[in-house]
Amino acid sequence: MKVLVLNCGSSSVKYQFISTDDKKVLAKGLIERIGSSGAILTHQRYDGDTIKITGEILDHDIAIEYVIAVLLSKNHGVIKDRSEIEAVGHRVVHGGEDFSGSVLITDAVIQTLRNNIELAPLHNPPNIKGIIACQKHLPGIPQVGVFDTAFHQKMPPKAYLYGIPYILYKKYKIRRYGFHGTSHLFVSKRAAQLMNQPYEKLKIITCHLGNGCSVAAIDGGISIDTSMGFTPLEGLLMGTRCGDLDPSIPLHVMGKEELTLAEVNTMLNKHSGLMGISGVSNDMREIIKAMNEGNERAKFAFEVFCYKIKKYIGAYTAALGGLDAIVFTGGIGENSSEVRKEVISNLEFLGIELDEGKNNLTNGERIISKDNSKVKVFVIPTNEELVIALDTAQIVSENQVLVNKN
Ligand code: AMP
Repeated sequence: MKVLVLNCGSSSVKYQFISTDDKKVLAKGLIERIGSSGAILTHQRYDGDTIKITGEILDHDIAIEYVIAVLLSKNHGVIKDRSEIEAVGHRVVHGGEDFSGSVLITDAVIQTLRNNIELAPLHNPPNIKGIIACQKHLPGIPQVGVFDTAFHQKMPPKAYLYGIPYILYKKYKIRRYGFHGTSHLFVSKRAAQLMNQPYEKLKIITCHLGNGCSVAAIDGGISIDTSMGFTPLEGLLMGTRCGDLDPSIPLHVMGKEELTLAEVNTMLNKHSGLMGISGVSNDMREIIKAMNEGNERAKFAFEVFCYKIKKYIGAYTAALGGLDAIVFTGGIGENSSEVRKEVISNLEFLGIELDEGKNNLTNGERIISKDNSKVKVFVIPTNEELVIALDTAQIVSENQVLVNKN
């Protein structure tokens, strides 16, 4: 099946057009600066042909029209008719407690997404806009929602409840949800394949370390805990997000600096993390460079970043009652041998032994633990778009079978 995968952000649309039968990306691209007259569409076909178009793209409706037009384009496209787009798979950030897996999008699903806007006010609205635009420009073509939160919906209450009045959970759905679900699912399944062992029998910790960072504890294919919570602000230190914090700190700073709610929100989301500690950058490459040049604050940022991951690995090994594998993924997890080394160092007592030679290799998917390491450590590049495409194809096929049966 040929599936258009869409990731609609507030001012951007990322897309991939994937043939799920052979897992081939036929075309991919990005529209940036939606809402301005200087919007940019960058499109690349499977054979490397690339174009860049600048123009006025004022909303998501027009952006989706552009995506379809470039896929149809005589010189740069890959289809002759829009009916060749057999299904659309949307990355949807927040499914709340309503979705524990991917779903075929119906009017009822769209209404449920609207009901969950409060939980992800920045992310869910553009996701919904993308869905509505596809209903208009690709009428009759099935759409599927794949949720960042769904994989973590089987976490037990002891992992998802906060120590605050229970009424707040009931009234406002304040609980831990977790994010990056498609990535944690993809790389953990892949680790089981690489180990040649049944996924259902393995205890795996996955570390998704990119611009956003989270760790998940996966027991027999079920996410039993993860470091992001009610929002993607909890857990690890990230590029500009603070991660775990004493909850009285924002209140204290608001009093001292006379900050508004919006200002303290910006501080925790945009001016904290690697950037906040180092004052250098939110990019791990810059942090490591500055640290190697003797910048003390960059060194602190690097150490705090790695130390928090190490602590989560210890905690999740206890939560899982054992450990078979650790997986590193995401821009930092896949590319930074320095971070992986610092995180894994001194964990030999847990049966985790890094092979420095393999860790330092620069090529993609590989095992980086010593041959005799009890716990296997992997680098596995994530592929969220492929997961979305495969889920979409599966759900659309299942529903076609149902329709045909009825
Ligand atoms: P992602 O969100 O998964 O695309 O990850 C983006 C982040 O990966 C960037 O902000 C960088 O901090 C990090 N990154 C990419 N390449 C490297 C590298 N070679 N070494 C360290 N960090 C990297």
